[in-house]
Amino acid sequence: MKELPIQTVLTLPTLQAPKQPRLVRRALVQFFLWFNLLPFVLIHAAVLTVFFVPVSWECVALFIGFFLARTWGLTGGFHRYFSHRAYKTSRPMQFAIGCLGSAALQKGPMWWAAEHRQHHRHSDQEGDPHSPIVKNFWWSHIGWVIDRNSRFTHWNELKDWHKFPELKWLDRFHYIPGLLVAGICYAVAGWPGVVWGFVLSTVCLYHTTFCVNSVCHIFGYRSFKTGDQSRNNWLVALLTLGEGWHNNHHHYPSCARQGFKWYEVDVTYYVLRCLGAVGLVWDIREPTPRALSFHRIEKPAAIAASL
Ligand SMILES: [Zn+2]
Ligand SMILES: [Zn+2]
Repeated sequence: MKELPIQTVLTLPTLQAPKQPRLVRRALVQFFLWFNLLPFVLIHAAVLTVFFVPVSWECVALFIGFFLARTWGLTGGFHRYFSHRAYKTSRPMQFAIGCLGSAALQKGPMWWAAEHRQHHRHSDQEGDPHSPIVKNFWWSHIGWVIDRNSRFTHWNELKDWHKFPELKWLDRFHYIPGLLVAGICYAVAGWPGVVWGFVLSTVCLYHTTFCVNSVCHIFGYRSFKTGDQSRNNWLVALLTLGEGWHNNHHHYPSCARQGFKWYEVDVTYYVLRCLGAVGLVWDIREPTPRALSFHRIEKPAAIAASL
Protein backbone atom coordinates (compact mmCIF):
# COMPACT_ATOMS: atom_id res chain seq x y z
CA MET A 1 0.00 0.00 0.00
CA LYS A 2 1.24 3.46 -0.92
CA GLU A 3 2.21 5.62 2.11
CA LEU A 4 0.80 9.15 2.53
CA PRO A 5 3.40 11.97 2.54
CA ILE A 6 4.38 12.97 6.09
CA GLN A 7 3.07 16.53 5.57
CA THR A 8 -0.45 15.27 4.71
CA VAL A 9 -0.61 12.97 7.70
CA LEU A 10 0.40 15.74 10.08
CA THR A 11 -1.90 18.50 8.83
CA LEU A 12 -5.16 16.69 8.11
CA PRO A 13 -6.48 16.31 11.73
CA THR A 14 -5.65 19.93 12.70
CA LEU A 15 -7.52 21.37 9.70
CA GLN A 16 -10.86 19.80 10.57
CA ALA A 17 -11.56 20.70 14.20
CA PRO A 18 -11.53 24.57 14.45
CA LYS A 19 -13.09 25.23 11.02
CA GLN A 20 -16.62 26.13 12.17
CA PRO A 21 -15.79 28.41 15.16
CA ARG A 22 -13.25 30.29 13.04
CA LEU A 23 -15.83 30.99 10.37
CA VAL A 24 -18.34 32.26 12.93
CA ARG A 25 -15.71 34.43 14.58
CA ARG A 26 -14.68 35.89 11.23
CA ALA A 27 -18.31 36.66 10.38
CA LEU A 28 -18.79 38.37 13.75
CA VAL A 29 -15.66 40.47 13.28
CA GLN A 30 -16.83 41.51 9.79
CA PHE A 31 -20.26 42.42 11.16
CA PHE A 32 -18.67 44.43 13.98
CA LEU A 33 -16.41 46.32 11.54
CA TRP A 34 -19.25 47.17 9.14
CA PHE A 35 -21.56 48.07 12.04
CA ASN A 36 -18.90 50.53 13.22
CA LEU A 37 -19.02 52.22 9.83
CA LEU A 38 -22.76 52.73 9.98
CA PRO A 39 -22.70 56.20 11.67
CA PHE A 40 -20.18 57.42 9.07
CA VAL A 41 -22.40 56.24 6.21
CA LEU A 42 -25.62 57.51 7.81
CA ILE A 43 -24.30 61.02 8.51
CA HIS A 44 -23.31 61.33 4.83
CA ALA A 45 -26.79 60.19 3.74
CA ALA A 46 -28.37 62.61 6.24
CA VAL A 47 -26.80 65.59 4.43
CA LEU A 48 -29.69 65.32 1.93
CA THR A 49 -32.10 66.43 4.65
CA VAL A 50 -30.66 69.93 4.29
CA PHE A 51 -33.06 70.37 1.31
CA PHE A 52 -36.08 69.58 3.47
CA VAL A 53 -35.55 71.81 6.52
CA PRO A 54 -35.95 75.61 6.81
CA VAL A 55 -32.73 77.59 7.24
CA SER A 56 -32.37 80.40 9.79
CA TRP A 57 -29.57 82.67 11.02
CA GLU A 58 -29.20 80.39 14.03
CA CYS A 59 -28.62 77.43 11.69
CA VAL A 60 -25.96 79.30 9.70
CA ALA A 61 -24.27 80.47 12.91
CA LEU A 62 -24.24 76.91 14.28
CA PHE A 63 -22.79 75.60 11.01
CA ILE A 64 -19.98 78.17 10.87
CA GLY A 65 -19.29 78.16 14.62
CA PHE A 66 -19.03 74.40 15.03
CA PHE A 67 -17.15 74.01 11.75
CA LEU A 68 -14.45 76.51 12.77
CA ALA A 69 -14.22 75.50 16.44
CA ARG A 70 -13.92 71.79 15.65
CA THR A 71 -11.48 72.45 12.80
CA TRP A 72 -9.23 74.15 15.33
CA GLY A 73 -9.73 71.21 17.71
CA LEU A 74 -8.27 68.99 15.00
CA THR A 75 -5.54 71.29 13.70
CA GLY A 76 -4.41 72.99 16.90
CA GLY A 77 -5.28 70.02 19.11
CA PHE A 78 -5.09 66.58 17.49
CA HIS A 79 -2.45 67.60 14.98
CA ARG A 80 -0.08 70.22 16.37
CA TYR A 81 -0.44 69.20 20.03
CA PHE A 82 -1.22 65.49 20.35
CA SER A 83 0.66 64.36 17.23
CA HIS A 84 3.63 66.75 17.24
CA ARG A 85 3.76 68.39 20.69
CA ALA A 86 4.48 71.73 19.05
CA TYR A 87 3.56 73.64 22.24
CA LYS A 88 2.84 72.97 25.91
CA THR A 89 -0.28 73.44 27.99
CA SER A 90 -1.84 72.42 31.31
CA ARG A 91 -3.47 69.05 31.92
CA PRO A 92 -7.05 70.44 32.11
CA MET A 93 -6.48 72.45 28.93
CA GLN A 94 -5.02 69.37 27.25
CA PHE A 95 -8.20 67.45 28.05
CA ALA A 96 -10.39 70.34 26.87
CA ILE A 97 -8.50 70.51 23.56
CA GLY A 98 -8.87 66.72 23.23
CA CYS A 99 -12.65 67.04 23.74
CA LEU A 100 -12.90 69.81 21.14
CA GLY A 101 -11.05 67.68 18.59
CA SER A 102 -13.15 64.61 19.44
CA ALA A 103 -16.28 66.66 18.75
CA ALA A 104 -15.29 66.46 15.05
CA LEU A 105 -16.13 62.73 15.19
CA GLN A 106 -12.81 61.64 13.72
CA LYS A 107 -12.27 59.23 16.61
CA GLY A 108 -10.18 60.15 19.66
CA PRO A 109 -6.92 62.11 20.04
CA MET A 110 -4.84 58.97 20.61
CA TRP A 111 -6.10 57.15 17.50
CA TRP A 112 -5.67 60.30 15.41
CA ALA A 113 -2.16 61.05 16.67
CA ALA A 114 -0.97 57.45 16.20
CA GLU A 115 -2.19 57.32 12.59
CA HIS A 116 -0.61 60.70 11.90
CA ARG A 117 2.73 59.74 13.41
CA GLN A 118 2.77 56.69 11.15
CA HIS A 119 2.09 59.01 8.20
CA HIS A 120 5.17 61.09 9.02
CA ARG A 121 7.32 58.06 9.77
CA HIS A 122 6.62 56.44 6.38
CA SER A 123 5.44 59.43 4.35
CA ASP A 124 4.53 58.35 0.78
CA GLN A 125 6.18 54.99 1.33
CA GLU A 126 5.03 51.53 2.30
CA GLY A 127 3.59 51.84 5.83
CA ASP A 128 2.02 55.28 5.27
CA PRO A 129 -1.65 54.74 6.19
CA HIS A 130 -2.98 57.19 3.58
CA SER A 131 -0.56 57.97 0.80
CA PRO A 132 -2.04 58.85 -2.63
CA ILE A 133 1.39 58.08 -4.11
CA VAL A 134 1.62 54.51 -2.77
CA LYS A 135 -2.07 53.81 -3.49
CA ASN A 136 -4.44 56.37 -5.06
CA PHE A 137 -6.43 59.55 -4.44
CA TRP A 138 -9.60 57.72 -3.34
CA TRP A 139 -7.65 55.64 -0.83
CA SER A 140 -5.86 58.64 0.68
CA HIS A 141 -9.08 60.68 0.91
CA ILE A 142 -11.55 58.20 2.37
CA GLY A 143 -10.61 54.59 1.57
CA TRP A 144 -8.17 54.26 4.47
CA VAL A 145 -10.75 55.68 6.90
CA ILE A 146 -13.22 52.90 6.19
CA ASP A 147 -10.57 50.19 5.95
CA ARG A 148 -10.72 47.55 8.68
CA ASN A 149 -7.01 48.01 9.50
CA SER A 150 -7.70 51.61 10.56
CA ARG A 151 -10.16 50.58 13.28
CA PHE A 152 -7.82 50.30 16.24
CA THR A 153 -5.46 52.68 18.06
CA HIS A 154 -1.73 51.92 17.60
CA TRP A 155 -0.64 52.46 21.21
CA ASN A 156 3.00 51.68 20.38
CA GLU A 157 3.14 55.13 18.67
CA LEU A 158 1.93 56.89 21.83
CA LYS A 159 4.39 56.11 24.61
CA ASP A 160 4.46 59.79 25.65
CA TRP A 161 0.69 59.75 26.30
CA HIS A 162 0.35 56.49 28.24
CA LYS A 163 0.46 58.24 31.62
CA PHE A 164 -2.82 60.14 31.09
CA PRO A 165 -5.81 57.88 31.89
CA GLU A 166 -8.29 60.64 31.00
CA LEU A 167 -6.98 60.64 27.41
CA LYS A 168 -7.39 56.85 27.20
CA TRP A 169 -10.95 57.34 28.48
CA LEU A 170 -11.60 60.04 25.88
CA ASP A 171 -10.20 57.84 23.15
CA ARG A 172 -12.57 55.06 24.17
CA PHE A 173 -15.65 57.29 24.45
CA HIS A 174 -14.65 59.66 21.66
CA TYR A 175 -18.22 60.02 20.36
CA ILE A 176 -19.51 61.80 23.53
CA PRO A 177 -18.33 65.36 22.61
CA GLY A 178 -19.83 64.92 19.13
CA LEU A 179 -23.18 63.92 20.57
CA LEU A 180 -22.99 66.96 22.83
CA VAL A 181 -22.61 69.15 19.73
CA ALA A 182 -25.76 67.57 18.28
CA GLY A 183 -27.58 68.23 21.58
CA ILE A 184 -26.55 71.91 21.63
CA CYS A 185 -27.70 72.32 18.01
CA TYR A 186 -31.09 70.83 18.89
CA ALA A 187 -31.44 73.06 21.96
CA VAL A 188 -30.63 76.22 19.94
CA ALA A 189 -32.54 75.65 16.69
CA GLY A 190 -34.36 72.31 16.82
CA TRP A 191 -33.96 69.73 14.03
CA PRO A 192 -32.91 72.31 11.41
CA GLY A 193 -30.13 73.27 13.82
CA VAL A 194 -29.01 69.63 14.02
CA VAL A 195 -29.01 69.30 10.24
CA TRP A 196 -26.91 72.45 9.70
CA GLY A 197 -24.78 72.68 12.84
CA PHE A 198 -24.11 68.98 13.29
CA VAL A 199 -24.75 66.91 10.14
CA LEU A 200 -23.62 69.30 7.39
CA SER A 201 -20.87 70.84 9.48
CA THR A 202 -19.43 67.42 10.44
CA VAL A 203 -19.47 66.09 6.87
CA CYS A 204 -17.80 69.28 5.54
CA LEU A 205 -15.23 68.91 8.29
CA TYR A 206 -14.55 65.30 7.30
CA HIS A 207 -13.74 66.23 3.74
CA THR A 208 -11.72 69.39 4.38
CA THR A 209 -9.56 67.37 6.80
CA PHE A 210 -9.26 64.44 4.40
CA CYS A 211 -8.10 66.86 1.68
CA VAL A 212 -4.87 67.40 3.63
CA ASN A 213 -4.06 63.70 3.16
CA SER A 214 -5.19 63.49 -0.46
CA VAL A 215 -4.97 66.90 -2.21
CA CYS A 216 -1.88 68.12 -0.31
CA HIS A 217 0.22 65.20 -1.53
CA ILE A 218 -0.74 65.79 -5.19
CA PHE A 219 -1.69 69.43 -5.95
CA GLY A 220 0.21 72.58 -4.98
CA TYR A 221 3.72 74.01 -4.81
CA ARG A 222 6.76 72.80 -2.95
CA SER A 223 9.00 75.14 -0.96
CA PHE A 224 11.25 72.48 0.54
CA LYS A 225 12.84 69.26 -0.62
CA THR A 226 11.24 66.62 1.55
CA GLY A 227 11.47 62.88 1.12
CA ASP A 228 7.81 62.75 0.04
CA GLN A 229 5.38 64.45 -2.35
CA SER A 230 3.84 66.89 0.17
CA ARG A 231 2.54 70.18 -1.31
CA ASN A 232 1.45 73.62 -0.14
CA ASN A 233 -2.14 74.23 -1.25
CA TRP A 234 -3.75 77.62 -0.51
CA LEU A 235 -7.36 76.44 -0.86
CA VAL A 236 -6.91 73.58 1.59
CA ALA A 237 -5.01 75.95 3.89
CA LEU A 238 -7.98 78.36 3.93
CA LEU A 239 -10.51 75.58 4.56
CA THR A 240 -8.44 73.94 7.31
CA LEU A 241 -7.18 77.04 9.13
CA GLY A 242 -3.61 76.59 7.92
CA GLU A 243 -3.08 72.85 7.48
CA GLY A 244 -2.76 73.19 3.70
CA TRP A 245 0.84 74.42 4.04
CA HIS A 246 1.64 70.76 4.11
CA ASN A 247 5.04 70.80 2.42
CA ASN A 248 6.21 73.35 5.02
CA HIS A 249 4.81 71.05 7.68
CA HIS A 250 6.55 67.93 6.37
CA HIS A 251 9.77 69.93 6.30
CA TYR A 252 9.41 70.96 9.95
CA PRO A 253 6.73 68.75 11.60
CA SER A 254 7.28 69.80 15.22
CA CYS A 255 6.88 73.53 14.45
CA ALA A 256 3.65 75.14 15.69
CA ARG A 257 3.60 77.44 12.67
CA GLN A 258 2.95 76.02 9.19
CA GLY A 259 2.56 79.15 7.07
CA PHE A 260 6.12 80.44 6.69
CA LYS A 261 5.54 83.32 4.24
CA TRP A 262 3.40 86.40 4.93
CA TYR A 263 0.73 85.23 2.49
CA GLU A 264 0.64 81.68 3.86
CA VAL A 265 -2.27 82.39 6.19
CA ASP A 266 -2.20 80.06 9.20
CA VAL A 267 -5.21 80.80 11.44
CA THR A 268 -4.45 77.85 13.74
CA TYR A 269 -1.11 79.43 14.58
CA TYR A 270 -2.64 82.88 15.13
CA VAL A 271 -5.12 81.37 17.62
CA LEU A 272 -2.24 79.60 19.36
CA ARG A 273 -0.44 82.93 19.73
CA CYS A 274 -3.59 84.45 21.26
CA LEU A 275 -3.88 81.53 23.69
CA GLY A 276 -0.18 82.00 24.46
CA ALA A 277 -0.73 85.72 25.15
CA VAL A 278 -3.26 84.91 27.88
CA GLY A 279 -1.11 82.12 29.34
CA LEU A 280 -3.25 79.13 28.36
CA VAL A 281 -0.46 77.61 26.23
CA TRP A 282 3.29 78.20 26.21
CA ASP A 283 6.60 77.12 24.63
CA ILE A 284 5.08 77.50 21.18
CA ARG A 285 7.71 76.13 18.82
CA GLU A 286 8.66 78.73 16.18
CA PRO A 287 10.59 78.08 12.95
CA THR A 288 14.32 78.71 13.29
CA PRO A 289 16.25 80.54 10.53
CA ARG A 290 18.31 77.39 9.97
CA ALA A 291 15.20 75.26 9.49
CA LEU A 292 13.82 77.79 6.99
CA SER A 293 16.94 77.69 4.84
CA PHE A 294 17.65 73.95 5.09
CA HIS A 295 16.59 71.95 2.00
CA ARG A 296 14.89 75.04 0.61
CA ILE A 297 13.78 75.20 -3.02
CA GLU A 298 13.53 79.03 -3.17
CA LYS A 299 16.37 81.45 -2.49
CA PRO A 300 17.02 82.09 1.22
CA ALA A 301 16.51 85.85 0.77
CA ALA A 302 12.99 85.29 -0.57
CA ILE A 303 12.01 83.33 2.52
CA ALA A 304 13.68 85.71 4.95
CA ALA A 305 12.04 88.75 3.33
CA SER A 306 8.60 87.19 3.52
CA LEU A 307 8.66 86.66 7.29
ZN1 LIG B 1 1.38 64.49 4.67
ZN1 LIG C 1 1.81 66.34 10.97
